[in-house]
Amino acid sequence: MRSHLLNDTTADRYRRSVTEGIERVAAKLATTERPFTGVTVDALAPRIDRIDLDKPLHDTTAVLDELEDVYLRDAIYFHHPRYLAHLNCPVVIPAVVGEAVLSAVNSSLDTWDQSAGGTLIERRLIDWTNERIGFGRSADGVFTSGGSQSNLQALLLAREEAKSDSYAKLRIFASEASHFSVKKSAKLLGLSQDAVVTVPTGNDKRMQTVALAHELERCRRDGLIPMAVVATAGTTDFGSIDPLPEIAELCEQFGAWLHVDAAYGCGLLASLKNRHRIDGIERADSVTVDYHKSFFQPVSSSAVLVRDATTLRHATYHAEYLNPRRMVQERIPNQVDKSLQTTRRFDALKLWMTLRTMGADGIGRLFDEVCDLAEQGWKLLAADPRYDVVVAPSLSTLVFRYIPAAVTDPAEIDRANLYARKALFASGDAVVAGTKVGGRHFLKFTLLNPETTTDDISAVLDLIAGHAEQYLGESLDRAS
Ligand SMILES: *Cc1c(COP(=O)(O)O)cnc(C)c1O
Repeated sequence: MRSHLLNDTTADRYRRSVTEGIERVAAKLATTERPFTGVTVDALAPRIDRIDLDKPLHDTTAVLDELEDVYLRDAIYFHHPRYLAHLNCPVVIPAVVGEAVLSAVNSSLDTWDQSAGGTLIERRLIDWTNERIGFGRSADGVFTSGGSQSNLQALLLAREEAKSDSYAKLRIFASEASHFSVKKSAKLLGLSQDAVVTVPTGNDKRMQTVALAHELERCRRDGLIPMAVVATAGTTDFGSIDPLPEIAELCEQFGAWLHVDAAYGCGLLASLKNRHRIDGIERADSVTVDYHKSFFQPVSSSAVLVRDATTLRHATYHAEYLNPRRMVQERIPNQVDKSLQTTRRFDALKLWMTLRTMGADGIGRLFDEVCDLAEQGWKLLAADPRYDVVVAPSLSTLVFRYIPAAVTDPAEIDRANLYARKALFASGDAVVAGTKVGGRHFLKFTLLNPETTTDDISAVLDLIAGHAEQYLGESLDRAS
């Protein structure tokens, strides 16, 4: 069994085995004709259940053959230009090289004595990101597992900085289009059930600052404490960007912590032409970025950034075995002092490899391309009588709904759209997302693949219309 350990004597096995795995994926990528096979849970589950985990195959080739059957064949492939559903990007090769290196070396970024250079590389990337945000020299941050964790940590710092002895009085303000992790965080942080005050958005799906001002005033009048405002720079559903400068003004006026959730919009930090859309982000107290959404990085790659490094002390705990207090005086950099996690992957390496290979402009160009594509897609949808489209894109998301000319019942239209999404998924021809707008079911394209073309968009719109029409036709038959 020792031959499976990765060490000085097994370099050949390592090379062969990993290469074999890579060959499988490369072959898959080269031959996938659709983003999904349309496999059902009922068809796939028994294939996985029947595998006896106590009877190993001992052989990489055999295990990979089996993996083909239980995973690779039916996986959802984000690199495919007709995968248009969630905030998943195709990944760039330099990052995947980084992934292979970081899991083989297996540094853990909690302490210097488990990572050495990894710690310093992560710190450089935090500084790099902070510079792009426009934070000053006292900024800091740390890599996290994702936007949800970044939001939780940012709100933890905000809660501590509010310096209130009563959590029940703390209020967080976030738009109705903000991410649900804000509410989840409030719960985890022990705040009251109504701690998150929902601020309405306008037709543009951006937070209404007049409404925010009202809510902040009401909060003060009621003797409550405005702990934080969460501005979303790129909402998950619409890509809309809250008016950051106006919100920053209000935060100053009311003494509230400003958290900018740029999990999606962070791609603009590298953009060559759209960076101005997130102007004002430099006034935040904390920022969430998800490199695994708009920097074309593999999951996970994320960070939380803070304008004032000293606020990170609220996440600092010392353990004698790991990061004793004296190490701070000895200036030994232990990233665990800033993190909610202890053992932590060297995810930063993927971004490092990417920047060193392609440069930030390379990433920014790719993100600009998908934003341009969304513009074109919006024009297509706006001109298409079969569809109602919600809002012109600020990033790369399109939300729309099939509206058959002959049908007026909105519930029937809902069902046609829901059916179309399901039928499309089952066909595997394309994958799209869905959401609700004003209580009605809509469909969503999240465009993060620069290989997707307007022809793909048109073709998928035709497919959706075809499925919706089929549903409505059958529905007529049922009625008659
Ligand atoms: C995706 C997303 C999150 C959550 O990030 P994860 O990496 O999925 O945990 C938070 N906020 C916004 C705006 C998002 O789009």
